[in-house]
Amino acid sequence: MVHFVGAGPGAVDLITLRGAKLLEEADQVIYAGSLVNPALLTRCRLDCRILNSAEMTLEQVIAAIEEAEQDGLMTVRLHTGDPSLYGAVREQTDRLDALGIPYDVTPGVSSFCAAAASLHAEYTLPGLSQTLILTRMAGRTPVPDRERLEELAKHGASMALFLSAGMLREVQAALLQGAYTENTPAAIVYKASWPEEKALRCTVGTLAETAQEAGITKTALILVGDFLKGDYARSRLYAPDFTTGYRKGTDAT
Ligand code: SAH
Repeated sequence: MVHFVGAGPGAVDLITLRGAKLLEEADQVIYAGSLVNPALLTRCRLDCRILNSAEMTLEQVIAAIEEAEQDGLMTVRLHTGDPSLYGAVREQTDRLDALGIPYDVTPGVSSFCAAAASLHAEYTLPGLSQTLILTRMAGRTPVPDRERLEELAKHGASMALFLSAGMLREVQAALLQGAYTENTPAAIVYKASWPEEKALRCTVGTLAETAQEAGITKTALILVGDFLKGDYARSRLYAPDFTTGYRKGTDAT
């Protein structure tokens, strides 16, 4: 059996209870390189076989899993954050399906959640934005044309950019072609929840220079949008005059 596990954003106590238990039971762990905090691996049994997938191809990962399966051993495939985002998980599960190897998936706390936490931010503020766009700048991995950053930027919604910290001049130019301006609030969160975390607030116009001054080129999320600063409307849910299925407001007749 193979368990895909979300390791969380980095802090060792931000893995789920289920994920931690599976790590403790694993006969083999294949972890996603430098993005996974190595301190998490101290949960593994002393006789657990530990492999770093950053040094492996998909074929080698599948071969290591197949080998363990033949010996009746359990593998944890440890992905950073939540496996469903930029995890290259589907290409693994499709192969396991073809091989008839059973698996399940344990979700994790994604880095975009940890980044908001470190900034005390809320992506969805009434009157400002009710949408969060999770995306990336096209790099060595292309992005479908209809999802080009310039296109997505037209919405002016809250945005979290993965895998883009090394391309901030291009990011700025693309964002400015949309609804954002030089003064739109932005933030760079490096290694959210790790001991060495850095959370830097800036604007769309100063993203590249802020990252350069701090020496940040990777393992960072770029957050953009008025949610980082602007004026918002109070929620209706907790307004005294608002009646819900659970609470009678002063608007009740
Ligand atoms: N599945 C992961 C994302 C993997 S892609 C998740 O859910 O978070 C790798 C990218 O995620 C990095 O380039 C960076 O943009 C972001 N990332 C991962 N961990 C991070 C962290 N702790 N802090 C900031 N960004 C992080």
